[in-house]
Formats: sequence, C-alpha cells, structure tokens
Amino acid sequence: MNEIKRLILDHFNLNPNKGCNRQNTFTWGQAVDAILDTSPRNSVNKILGVSNATITSNFSKAFGKKPASSQPWPNYIFNCIGYKKCYGCLEIKSLDEFHKSKNRDMGKQSSCKVCAKENLRLRQKNNPEINRAYSSKYNAKKLQRTPPWINDLAILEFYEGCPKGYHVDHIIPLQGERVSGLHVLENLQYLPASENLSKSNRFEIT
Ligand SMILES: [Zn+2]
Repeated sequence: MNEIKRLILDHFNLNPNKGCNRQNTFTWGQAVDAILDTSPRNSVNKILGVSNATITSNFSKAFGKKPASSQPWPNYIFNCIGYKKCYGCLEIKSLDEFHKSKNRDMGKQSSCKVCAKENLRLRQKNNPEINRAYSSKYNAKKLQRTPPWINDLAILEFYEGCPKGYHVDHIIPLQGERVSGLHVLENLQYLPASENLSKSNRFEIT
C-alpha cells in the first residue's frame, strides 16, 4: 500500500475495507485513493461519483471538522499528516519541501521547491527582466533600501511586464547623490533603455 495512504488511514483510524455508511457508498480505502488522485480538475466527489453533500456528511464524520470551510478536503487531510500536494508535479510531499508563502494554504507555496525552481528557470528563459528583478532586489538589500513591508510578487510582476527596449528604473535611485529611493513598486518605472543608461544615479531635486 502507498505510504501516504497508510499514514492517512492510520491517522484517522479508518479501516480501508469498511464502507463509509450503511449503503456502502464507498469504502474508506476507495475514499483515500480518491483523495490521493485529486487534481485541480478532478475533485474527490467526481472521482467517487457521488454528490458533494455525500462527501461532506461522510468525511466530516471520519476526518473531523475542517478549521476553514473553504479548504478542500484533500488539502485539509494532507495537512493533518504534515503533507501537501504540489500543483505542479501533483506529488504529495512533506511540508518542508515547499517554500513559505504567507497567504497560501498552510503558509506554503502551491508548487514544491523542485517545481518552483523549474518554473523560475522557464520564466527567466522567456523573460530576462526576471534576472534584473533579482539583481535589483539583491542590490537594494545590500544598500538597505528594502523596507520590511515590500511586496515581492508585485515587484517581480512589474519586472516581468517590462516592454521590449525598456528597462525597469528606480524613479529615485537607490543610491542617489543627495537622496536615496526605496526598492518598492511606487519607485519603479519603465524607461527606454537608452534613457536609463544616461540617467545613472542622478535625480533632480526641485
Ligand atoms: Zn512539484
């Protein structure tokens, strides 16, 4: 038997051969198989061929009440045993195989570290501005121009959206002659590549 299936059955003390109700709508073994098979396009009730209401009533009895009703059953059940399903490779991996992400389920990214690295590699290949975003972030950190409330993802997307022939420019340079700007979205603009090179670290104070 699959190791994760075993963990789930043991954790919730379920007999894989026992029916979920008197009608034997499905066995707990089938239910856990369905949970393992879910993907963004294939939900538990679809796999088991039953209604959402049947899932809710039987699963609440067996798996307990979910803390957040919006959380899908598989996510909740994996979380209970310290696992998460990666939306990239669809493998079920232990939580420490995911990077942190404050606003996502369980405070972890939806893709595992391996998939996240590959996604970034592909994005970098298709868009060299991503590299600039990373080196800018590094420079800003070195110059201590990154405030703690910085929104990393918005900045990354700003770099990704940079039109051809343009560079991302700090409106107020990070290391200006008289004033220094912050590495924040509000201080970023698109500038034609030629203009950006001539601007250097000057900022006119009027
Ligand atoms: Zn993955």
